[in-house]
Amino acid sequence: DVRVRFAPSPTGQIHIGNIRTALFNYLFAKKNNGTFILRIEDTDRERSTSEFEEVIHKEMEWLGLDWDEGVGVGGNYGPYRQMERLDTYNDYIQNLLDNDLAYHCYCTPEELDEMREEQRKNGEPPRYTGKCRCLTQEERDKLEAEGRNPVVRFKVSEETKDIIVDDLIRGRVSFSSDVIDDFVIVKSDGIPTYNFAVVVDDYLMEISHVIRGEDHLSNTPKQQLLYDALGWEAPRFAHLSMILGTDKSKLSKRSGEAYVYVSEYRKKGYLPEALINFLSLLGWSPDGDEEILTKEEIIEQFSIDRVNKSAAVFDVEKLNWMNGMYIRSAELEKIVDLAKPYIREAGYDLSDKSDEWIRFLVDTVRGSLDHVSEIADHLDIFFGDLTYTDKEKAKEDFKQEKVDLVFETLKNRIKSLDSLDPEFIKKMLKQTLKDLPVGGRVFYHPTRFALTGKGSGPELYNVIALLGKEECINRLDQALA
Ligand code: GLU
Repeated sequence: DVRVRFAPSPTGQIHIGNIRTALFNYLFAKKNNGTFILRIEDTDRERSTSEFEEVIHKEMEWLGLDWDEGVGVGGNYGPYRQMERLDTYNDYIQNLLDNDLAYHCYCTPEELDEMREEQRKNGEPPRYTGKCRCLTQEERDKLEAEGRNPVVRFKVSEETKDIIVDDLIRGRVSFSSDVIDDFVIVKSDGIPTYNFAVVVDDYLMEISHVIRGEDHLSNTPKQQLLYDALGWEAPRFAHLSMILGTDKSKLSKRSGEAYVYVSEYRKKGYLPEALINFLSLLGWSPDGDEEILTKEEIIEQFSIDRVNKSAAVFDVEKLNWMNGMYIRSAELEKIVDLAKPYIREAGYDLSDKSDEWIRFLVDTVRGSLDHVSEIADHLDIFFGDLTYTDKEKAKEDFKQEKVDLVFETLKNRIKSLDSLDPEFIKKMLKQTLKDLPVGGRVFYHPTRFALTGKGSGPELYNVIALLGKEECINRLDQALA
Protein backbone atom coordinates (compact mmCIF):
# COMPACT_ATOMS: atom_id res chain seq x y z
CA ASP A 1 0.00 0.00 0.00
CA VAL A 2 1.22 3.44 -0.84
CA ARG A 3 1.21 5.67 2.21
CA VAL A 4 2.90 9.05 1.96
CA ARG A 5 3.00 12.02 4.22
CA PHE A 6 3.51 15.74 4.17
CA ALA A 7 5.20 16.63 7.44
CA PRO A 8 5.55 20.38 7.79
CA SER A 9 6.73 22.21 10.85
CA PRO A 10 4.25 24.90 11.88
CA THR A 11 6.87 27.58 12.26
CA GLY A 12 5.82 30.12 9.66
CA GLN A 13 4.06 30.75 6.39
CA ILE A 14 4.20 27.87 3.92
CA HIS A 15 7.02 28.27 1.47
CA ILE A 16 6.25 27.52 -2.15
CA GLY A 17 8.88 24.76 -2.12
CA ASN A 18 7.13 23.09 0.77
CA ILE A 19 3.78 23.13 -0.91
CA ARG A 20 5.35 21.61 -4.02
CA THR A 21 6.51 18.77 -1.74
CA ALA A 22 2.97 18.42 -0.42
CA LEU A 23 1.63 18.41 -3.97
CA PHE A 24 4.00 15.70 -5.22
CA ASN A 25 3.10 13.52 -2.23
CA TYR A 26 -0.56 14.13 -2.95
CA LEU A 27 -0.20 13.33 -6.66
CA PHE A 28 1.78 10.20 -5.91
CA ALA A 29 -0.83 9.03 -3.42
CA LYS A 30 -3.75 9.73 -5.76
CA LYS A 31 -2.05 8.12 -8.72
CA ASN A 32 -1.38 4.96 -6.73
CA ASN A 33 -4.67 4.78 -4.87
CA GLY A 34 -2.67 5.43 -1.76
CA THR A 35 -3.14 7.42 1.40
CA PHE A 36 -1.96 11.00 1.80
CA ILE A 37 -1.22 11.90 5.40
CA LEU A 38 -0.70 15.27 7.07
CA ARG A 39 1.58 15.08 10.07
CA ILE A 40 2.61 18.12 12.06
CA GLU A 41 6.22 18.22 13.18
CA ASP A 42 6.00 20.64 16.05
CA THR A 43 8.95 19.64 18.19
CA ASP A 44 10.58 23.03 17.78
CA ARG A 45 8.78 24.43 20.79
CA GLU A 46 10.04 27.92 20.38
CA ARG A 47 8.94 28.42 16.82
CA SER A 48 5.88 26.19 16.47
CA THR A 49 2.46 27.74 16.99
CA SER A 50 -1.10 26.59 16.48
CA GLU A 51 -1.69 29.67 14.31
CA PHE A 52 0.92 28.43 11.87
CA GLU A 53 -0.68 25.01 11.93
CA GLU A 54 -3.93 26.75 10.95
CA VAL A 55 -2.06 28.38 8.08
CA ILE A 56 -1.03 24.95 6.83
CA HIS A 57 -4.61 23.68 6.91
CA LYS A 58 -5.90 26.78 5.23
CA GLU A 59 -3.44 26.86 2.35
CA MET A 60 -3.76 23.15 1.70
CA GLU A 61 -7.52 23.42 1.66
CA TRP A 62 -7.33 26.40 -0.65
CA LEU A 63 -5.23 24.39 -3.08
CA GLY A 64 -7.49 21.36 -2.76
CA LEU A 65 -4.71 19.20 -1.34
CA ASP A 66 -7.07 17.20 0.82
CA TRP A 67 -5.43 14.72 3.09
CA ASP A 68 -6.93 11.32 3.84
CA GLU A 69 -5.45 10.93 7.24
CA GLY A 70 -3.76 13.07 9.87
CA VAL A 71 -4.42 16.15 11.95
CA GLY A 72 -7.98 17.31 11.72
CA VAL A 73 -9.28 14.18 10.01
CA GLY A 74 -7.84 11.45 12.24
CA GLY A 75 -6.92 7.92 11.31
CA ASN A 76 -5.60 4.71 12.78
CA TYR A 77 -2.02 5.81 13.21
CA GLY A 78 -2.48 8.92 15.38
CA PRO A 79 -1.86 11.11 17.10
CA TYR A 80 -0.50 13.07 14.14
CA ARG A 81 1.15 15.89 16.03
CA GLN A 82 4.61 15.01 17.23
CA MET A 83 4.24 16.75 20.58
CA GLU A 84 1.39 14.37 21.30
CA ARG A 85 3.64 11.39 20.64
CA LEU A 86 6.38 11.96 23.22
CA ASP A 87 5.60 8.77 25.15
CA THR A 88 6.00 6.73 22.01
CA TYR A 89 9.39 8.26 21.25
CA ASN A 90 10.52 7.67 24.82
CA ASP A 91 9.89 3.94 24.50
CA TYR A 92 12.22 3.71 21.53
CA ILE A 93 14.82 5.97 23.08
CA GLN A 94 14.85 3.69 26.09
CA ASN A 95 15.22 0.73 23.80
CA LEU A 96 18.31 2.28 22.18
CA LEU A 97 19.78 3.24 25.56
CA ASP A 98 19.18 -0.25 26.94
CA ASN A 99 20.91 -1.79 23.94
CA ASP A 100 23.89 0.51 24.23
CA LEU A 101 23.03 2.11 20.90
CA ALA A 102 22.60 5.54 22.46
CA TYR A 103 23.98 7.36 25.45
CA HIS A 104 23.53 10.44 27.59
CA CYS A 105 25.83 13.33 26.85
CA TYR A 106 26.40 16.06 29.40
CA CYS A 107 28.63 18.37 27.42
CA THR A 108 27.55 21.98 27.67
CA PRO A 109 27.28 24.21 24.60
CA GLU A 110 30.46 25.93 25.75
CA GLU A 111 32.32 22.65 25.96
CA LEU A 112 31.09 21.70 22.51
CA ASP A 113 32.28 25.04 21.17
CA GLU A 114 35.71 24.42 22.66
CA MET A 115 35.79 20.99 21.11
CA ARG A 116 35.04 22.45 17.68
CA GLU A 117 37.56 25.21 18.13
CA GLU A 118 40.21 22.65 18.96
CA GLN A 119 39.29 20.62 15.87
CA ARG A 120 39.37 23.71 13.71
CA LYS A 121 42.89 24.50 14.92
CA ASN A 122 44.00 20.99 14.11
CA GLY A 123 42.43 21.16 10.70
CA GLU A 124 39.92 18.42 11.54
CA PRO A 125 36.26 18.50 10.57
CA PRO A 126 33.96 19.49 13.42
CA ARG A 127 32.35 16.47 15.01
CA TYR A 128 31.39 15.26 18.41
CA THR A 129 34.33 13.31 19.81
CA GLY A 130 32.33 10.79 21.73
CA LYS A 131 33.52 12.22 25.02
CA CYS A 132 30.46 11.01 26.99
CA ARG A 133 30.24 7.61 25.30
CA CYS A 134 31.61 5.61 28.17
CA LEU A 135 30.60 7.48 31.29
CA THR A 136 30.13 5.32 34.37
CA GLN A 137 26.98 5.63 36.43
CA GLU A 138 29.03 7.40 39.07
CA GLU A 139 30.28 10.01 36.62
CA ARG A 140 26.80 10.53 35.32
CA ASP A 141 25.41 11.02 38.81
CA LYS A 142 28.06 13.56 39.51
CA LEU A 143 27.32 15.54 36.33
CA GLU A 144 23.64 15.42 37.05
CA ALA A 145 24.26 16.64 40.58
CA GLU A 146 25.90 19.67 38.98
CA GLY A 147 22.54 20.38 37.48
CA ARG A 148 23.40 19.39 33.92
CA ASN A 149 20.58 18.19 31.71
CA PRO A 150 21.86 15.58 29.31
CA VAL A 151 20.99 15.13 25.67
CA VAL A 152 20.79 11.65 24.21
CA ARG A 153 23.17 10.87 21.37
CA PHE A 154 23.01 8.03 18.93
CA LYS A 155 26.13 5.91 18.90
CA VAL A 156 27.47 5.80 15.36
CA SER A 157 29.60 2.75 14.81
CA GLU A 158 33.30 3.58 14.75
CA GLU A 159 33.86 1.21 11.93
CA THR A 160 33.72 3.13 8.67
CA LYS A 161 31.12 1.97 6.20
CA ASP A 162 29.13 3.33 3.32
CA ILE A 163 25.53 4.17 3.90
CA ILE A 164 23.58 3.80 0.71
CA VAL A 165 20.42 5.72 0.12
CA ASP A 166 18.57 4.28 -2.81
CA ASP A 167 16.71 7.32 -3.98
CA LEU A 168 13.89 7.07 -6.49
CA ILE A 169 14.91 10.31 -8.15
CA ARG A 170 18.65 10.48 -7.59
CA GLY A 171 19.55 6.82 -7.78
CA ARG A 172 22.05 5.32 -5.35
CA VAL A 173 23.59 8.00 -3.17
CA SER A 174 26.43 6.89 -0.96
CA PHE A 175 27.54 8.52 2.30
CA SER A 176 30.51 7.52 4.36
CA SER A 177 29.66 6.90 8.00
CA ASP A 178 32.86 8.81 8.70
CA VAL A 179 31.13 12.09 8.18
CA ILE A 180 28.40 11.27 10.65
CA ASP A 181 29.16 11.86 14.29
CA ASP A 182 27.16 10.77 17.31
CA PHE A 183 24.18 12.96 16.60
CA VAL A 184 21.64 14.15 19.16
CA ILE A 185 18.35 12.28 19.19
CA VAL A 186 16.86 13.83 22.33
CA LYS A 187 17.46 17.45 23.24
CA SER A 188 18.19 18.56 26.79
CA ASP A 189 14.52 19.49 27.25
CA GLY A 190 13.66 15.83 26.71
CA ILE A 191 12.10 16.36 23.28
CA PRO A 192 13.38 14.22 20.41
CA THR A 193 15.09 15.79 17.43
CA TYR A 194 13.65 15.80 13.95
CA ASN A 195 15.86 12.94 12.77
CA PHE A 196 14.67 10.64 15.49
CA ALA A 197 11.00 11.54 15.58
CA VAL A 198 10.70 11.33 11.82
CA VAL A 199 12.04 7.77 11.77
CA VAL A 200 9.73 6.56 14.53
CA ASP A 201 6.74 8.22 12.92
CA ASP A 202 7.45 7.11 9.38
CA TYR A 203 7.88 3.57 10.64
CA LEU A 204 4.85 3.47 12.92
CA MET A 205 2.66 5.22 10.39
CA GLU A 206 3.75 2.65 7.82
CA ILE A 207 4.92 5.28 5.39
CA SER A 208 5.92 3.54 2.18
CA HIS A 209 7.56 6.46 0.39
CA VAL A 210 9.21 9.52 1.85
CA ILE A 211 9.01 12.28 -0.74
CA ARG A 212 10.63 15.47 0.48
CA GLY A 213 13.00 18.25 -0.44
CA GLU A 214 16.60 17.68 -1.38
CA ASP A 215 17.59 19.80 1.62
CA HIS A 216 16.85 16.72 3.70
CA LEU A 217 19.07 14.39 1.72
CA SER A 218 21.94 14.89 4.17
CA ASN A 219 19.66 13.77 7.00
CA THR A 220 18.74 10.57 5.28
CA PRO A 221 21.90 8.56 6.13
CA LYS A 222 21.36 9.40 9.80
CA GLN A 223 17.81 8.22 9.52
CA GLN A 224 19.00 5.12 7.71
CA LEU A 225 21.32 4.36 10.65
CA LEU A 226 18.42 4.72 13.04
CA TYR A 227 16.25 2.36 10.99
CA ASP A 228 19.06 -0.17 11.08
CA ALA A 229 19.60 0.24 14.82
CA LEU A 230 15.91 -0.21 15.52
CA GLY A 231 15.75 -3.21 13.23
CA TRP A 232 13.29 -1.59 10.88
CA GLU A 233 13.12 -1.50 7.15
CA ALA A 234 13.35 2.05 5.84
CA PRO A 235 10.72 3.42 3.45
CA ARG A 236 11.67 4.30 -0.12
CA PHE A 237 13.08 7.80 -0.46
CA ALA A 238 12.57 10.38 -3.16
CA HIS A 239 14.29 13.72 -2.75
CA LEU A 240 12.91 16.53 -4.86
CA SER A 241 15.37 19.03 -6.24
CA MET A 242 15.35 22.58 -5.06
CA ILE A 243 13.40 25.36 -6.69
CA LEU A 244 15.48 28.22 -8.01
CA GLY A 245 14.60 31.72 -9.11
CA THR A 246 15.25 32.68 -12.73
CA ASP A 247 18.59 34.11 -11.57
CA LYS A 248 19.46 30.54 -10.50
CA SER A 249 19.65 31.45 -6.83
CA LYS A 250 17.60 29.59 -4.28
CA LEU A 251 14.06 30.89 -4.24
CA SER A 252 13.97 33.02 -1.16
CA LYS A 253 12.23 36.09 0.13
CA ARG A 254 15.08 38.10 -1.24
CA SER A 255 14.94 36.87 -4.83
CA GLY A 256 12.41 39.64 -5.34
CA GLU A 257 10.54 38.59 -8.45
CA ALA A 258 8.55 35.61 -7.23
CA TYR A 259 6.60 35.41 -4.02
CA VAL A 260 7.85 32.66 -1.75
CA TYR A 261 4.79 32.06 0.39
CA VAL A 262 1.60 30.40 -0.70
CA SER A 263 -0.42 33.04 1.13
CA GLU A 264 0.98 35.74 -1.14
CA TYR A 265 -0.29 33.98 -4.24
CA ARG A 266 -3.68 33.54 -2.65
CA LYS A 267 -3.86 37.19 -1.68
CA LYS A 268 -2.82 38.37 -5.12
CA GLY A 269 -5.68 36.48 -6.67
CA TYR A 270 -3.91 33.58 -8.29
CA LEU A 271 -6.25 30.68 -8.95
CA PRO A 272 -5.50 27.53 -6.98
CA GLU A 273 -5.97 25.42 -10.12
CA ALA A 274 -3.34 27.48 -11.94
CA LEU A 275 -0.90 27.31 -9.07
CA ILE A 276 -1.34 23.54 -8.81
CA ASN A 277 -0.79 23.18 -12.54
CA PHE A 278 2.30 25.38 -12.43
CA LEU A 279 3.80 23.73 -9.34
CA SER A 280 3.28 20.28 -10.79
CA LEU A 281 5.63 21.26 -13.62
CA LEU A 282 8.40 22.27 -11.23
CA GLY A 283 10.52 19.18 -11.59
CA TRP A 284 7.96 16.96 -13.23
CA SER A 285 6.98 16.84 -16.87
CA PRO A 286 3.96 15.29 -18.53
CA ASP A 287 4.31 12.82 -21.39
CA GLY A 288 2.92 15.10 -24.03
CA ASP A 289 3.42 18.74 -24.94
CA GLU A 290 0.27 20.01 -23.32
CA GLU A 291 1.15 21.94 -20.21
CA ILE A 292 -2.26 23.22 -19.23
CA LEU A 293 -3.60 20.29 -17.26
CA THR A 294 -6.35 19.79 -14.75
CA LYS A 295 -5.54 18.18 -11.44
CA GLU A 296 -7.17 14.98 -12.65
CA GLU A 297 -5.05 14.94 -15.79
CA ILE A 298 -1.91 15.52 -13.76
CA ILE A 299 -2.77 12.68 -11.40
CA GLU A 300 -3.46 10.44 -14.35
CA GLN A 301 -0.04 11.16 -15.86
CA PHE A 302 2.02 11.55 -12.69
CA SER A 303 4.97 9.31 -12.10
CA ILE A 304 8.13 9.62 -10.02
CA ASP A 305 10.12 8.38 -13.02
CA ARG A 306 9.42 11.66 -14.74
CA VAL A 307 10.59 13.75 -11.82
CA ASN A 308 13.76 15.54 -12.75
CA LYS A 309 16.79 15.55 -10.51
CA SER A 310 18.13 18.87 -11.67
CA ALA A 311 16.88 22.02 -10.01
CA ALA A 312 13.56 23.44 -11.11
CA VAL A 313 13.38 27.07 -12.13
CA PHE A 314 10.46 29.09 -10.89
CA ASP A 315 9.51 31.26 -13.83
CA VAL A 316 7.02 33.86 -12.64
CA GLU A 317 6.27 34.95 -16.18
CA LYS A 318 5.14 31.46 -16.99
CA LEU A 319 3.02 31.30 -13.87
CA ASN A 320 1.43 34.62 -14.80
CA TRP A 321 0.75 33.44 -18.31
CA MET A 322 -0.77 30.23 -17.01
CA ASN A 323 -2.82 32.02 -14.40
CA GLY A 324 -4.10 34.39 -17.07
CA MET A 325 -5.22 31.39 -19.11
CA TYR A 326 -7.10 30.03 -16.12
CA ILE A 327 -8.67 33.41 -15.38
CA ARG A 328 -9.97 33.62 -18.93
CA SER A 329 -11.34 30.11 -19.05
CA ALA A 330 -12.78 29.99 -15.54
CA GLU A 331 -16.48 30.29 -14.95
CA LEU A 332 -17.20 34.00 -14.98
CA GLU A 333 -19.14 33.84 -11.74
CA LYS A 334 -16.08 32.54 -9.95
CA ILE A 335 -13.87 35.35 -11.16
CA VAL A 336 -16.55 37.88 -10.27
CA ASP A 337 -16.68 36.59 -6.70
CA LEU A 338 -12.92 36.73 -6.45
CA ALA A 339 -12.71 40.16 -8.04
CA LYS A 340 -15.33 42.00 -5.99
CA PRO A 341 -13.23 42.39 -2.82
CA TYR A 342 -10.31 43.78 -4.83
CA ILE A 343 -12.61 46.21 -6.63
CA ARG A 344 -14.07 47.46 -3.35
CA GLU A 345 -10.69 47.59 -1.70
CA ALA A 346 -9.45 49.84 -4.48
CA GLY A 347 -12.23 52.25 -3.55
CA TYR A 348 -14.67 51.63 -6.41
CA ASP A 349 -18.26 51.82 -5.33
CA LEU A 350 -20.32 48.93 -6.60
CA SER A 351 -23.41 49.66 -4.54
CA ASP A 352 -25.37 51.25 -7.40
CA LYS A 353 -24.23 48.74 -10.00
CA SER A 354 -26.30 45.81 -11.11
CA ASP A 355 -24.96 42.28 -10.88
CA GLU A 356 -25.21 42.10 -14.63
CA TRP A 357 -23.08 45.22 -15.05
CA ILE A 358 -20.45 43.92 -12.64
CA ARG A 359 -20.31 40.59 -14.45
CA PHE A 360 -19.90 42.31 -17.76
CA LEU A 361 -17.20 44.58 -16.34
CA VAL A 362 -15.19 41.66 -15.02
CA ASP A 363 -15.62 39.75 -18.24
CA THR A 364 -14.45 42.76 -20.24
CA VAL A 365 -11.19 43.20 -18.38
CA ARG A 366 -10.31 39.67 -17.29
CA GLY A 367 -8.50 39.07 -20.56
CA SER A 368 -5.66 41.32 -19.49
CA LEU A 369 -5.17 40.01 -15.95
CA ASP A 370 -2.23 37.97 -14.72
CA HIS A 371 -3.90 37.65 -11.36
CA VAL A 372 -7.25 38.82 -10.14
CA SER A 373 -6.05 41.56 -7.80
CA GLU A 374 -4.72 43.38 -10.85
CA ILE A 375 -8.28 44.13 -11.83
CA ALA A 376 -8.08 47.26 -9.73
CA ASP A 377 -5.63 48.74 -12.24
CA HIS A 378 -8.10 48.46 -15.10
CA LEU A 379 -11.19 50.10 -13.67
CA ASP A 380 -10.58 53.83 -13.46
CA ILE A 381 -12.05 54.36 -16.91
CA PHE A 382 -15.40 52.96 -15.83
CA PHE A 383 -15.93 54.90 -12.64
CA GLY A 384 -16.47 58.59 -11.97
CA ASP A 385 -15.64 61.52 -14.20
CA LEU A 386 -12.99 61.33 -16.81
CA THR A 387 -10.15 63.81 -16.86
CA TYR A 388 -7.49 63.62 -19.50
CA THR A 389 -4.28 63.23 -17.60
CA ASP A 390 -2.35 63.31 -20.83
CA LYS A 391 -3.59 66.69 -22.02
CA GLU A 392 -1.07 67.02 -24.81
CA LYS A 393 -2.09 63.71 -26.27
CA ALA A 394 -5.72 64.68 -26.03
CA LYS A 395 -5.13 67.93 -27.84
CA GLU A 396 -3.19 66.23 -30.56
CA ASP A 397 -5.78 63.51 -31.03
CA PHE A 398 -8.81 65.77 -30.98
CA LYS A 399 -7.31 68.45 -33.22
CA GLN A 400 -7.09 66.13 -36.19
CA GLU A 401 -9.17 66.99 -39.17
CA LYS A 402 -12.75 65.70 -39.06
CA VAL A 403 -12.45 64.38 -35.53
CA ASP A 404 -15.20 66.78 -34.49
CA LEU A 405 -17.39 65.25 -37.10
CA VAL A 406 -16.64 61.77 -35.78
CA PHE A 407 -17.50 62.77 -32.22
CA GLU A 408 -20.71 64.60 -33.21
CA THR A 409 -21.87 61.69 -35.30
CA LEU A 410 -21.08 59.17 -32.60
CA LYS A 411 -22.88 61.25 -30.02
CA ASN A 412 -26.03 61.14 -32.08
CA ARG A 413 -25.76 57.46 -32.86
CA ILE A 414 -25.09 56.54 -29.26
CA LYS A 415 -28.01 58.69 -28.14
CA SER A 416 -30.34 56.79 -30.44
CA LEU A 417 -29.01 53.29 -29.73
CA ASP A 418 -31.86 50.86 -29.17
CA SER A 419 -29.78 48.47 -27.19
CA LEU A 420 -26.56 48.46 -25.21
CA ASP A 421 -25.78 44.99 -26.41
CA PRO A 422 -22.05 45.02 -27.27
CA GLU A 423 -22.60 43.18 -30.55
CA PHE A 424 -25.16 45.77 -31.53
CA ILE A 425 -22.75 48.59 -30.62
CA LYS A 426 -20.01 46.90 -32.57
CA LYS A 427 -22.17 46.99 -35.67
CA MET A 428 -23.10 50.60 -35.06
CA LEU A 429 -19.42 51.56 -34.84
CA LYS A 430 -18.62 49.78 -38.07
CA GLN A 431 -21.51 51.39 -39.85
CA THR A 432 -20.59 54.84 -38.55
CA LEU A 433 -17.07 54.45 -39.81
CA LYS A 434 -18.41 53.44 -43.17
CA ASP A 435 -20.75 56.41 -43.32
CA LEU A 436 -18.06 58.95 -42.49
CA PRO A 437 -15.41 60.33 -44.85
CA VAL A 438 -12.62 59.22 -42.49
CA GLY A 439 -10.30 56.27 -42.06
CA GLY A 440 -10.02 53.94 -39.08
CA ARG A 441 -7.13 55.84 -37.56
CA VAL A 442 -9.07 59.06 -37.20
CA PHE A 443 -12.06 57.12 -36.01
CA TYR A 444 -11.07 54.56 -33.42
CA HIS A 445 -8.08 56.15 -31.81
CA PRO A 446 -9.48 59.55 -30.95
CA THR A 447 -12.76 57.94 -29.91
CA ARG A 448 -11.00 55.60 -27.52
CA PHE A 449 -9.06 58.50 -26.13
CA ALA A 450 -12.19 60.62 -25.78
CA LEU A 451 -14.02 57.86 -23.93
CA THR A 452 -11.25 56.47 -21.77
CA GLY A 453 -8.37 58.94 -21.73
CA LYS A 454 -6.08 56.11 -22.73
CA GLY A 455 -4.45 54.88 -25.88
CA SER A 456 -5.35 51.25 -25.34
CA GLY A 457 -7.74 49.14 -23.32
CA PRO A 458 -10.74 46.86 -23.67
CA GLU A 459 -12.82 46.68 -26.85
CA LEU A 460 -14.53 49.99 -27.53
CA TYR A 461 -17.99 48.47 -27.89
CA ASN A 462 -17.63 46.94 -24.43
CA VAL A 463 -16.46 50.26 -23.04
CA ILE A 464 -19.49 52.01 -24.52
CA ALA A 465 -21.84 49.36 -23.19
CA LEU A 466 -20.35 49.62 -19.73
CA LEU A 467 -20.31 53.40 -19.60
CA GLY A 468 -23.87 53.78 -20.82
CA LYS A 469 -25.27 56.37 -23.18
CA GLU A 470 -25.22 59.36 -20.88
CA GLU A 471 -21.63 58.99 -19.76
CA CYS A 472 -20.43 58.39 -23.30
CA ILE A 473 -22.15 61.55 -24.47
CA ASN A 474 -20.70 63.53 -21.58
CA ARG A 475 -17.24 62.34 -22.43
CA LEU A 476 -17.61 63.10 -26.13
CA ASP A 477 -18.86 66.56 -25.22
CA GLN A 478 -15.83 67.05 -23.05
CA ALA A 479 -13.60 66.05 -25.95
CA LEU A 480 -15.39 68.45 -28.26
CA ALA A 481 -15.13 71.37 -25.83
N1 GLU B 1 9.39 18.77 9.25
C1 GLU B 1 10.29 18.57 8.15
C2 GLU B 1 10.25 19.79 7.27
O1 GLU B 1 9.31 20.55 7.33
C3 GLU B 1 9.88 17.33 7.39
C4 GLU B 1 10.95 16.74 6.59
C5 GLU B 1 10.56 15.36 6.09
O2 GLU B 1 9.66 15.29 5.26
O3 GLU B 1 11.12 14.39 6.57
O4 GLU B 1 11.16 20.05 6.54
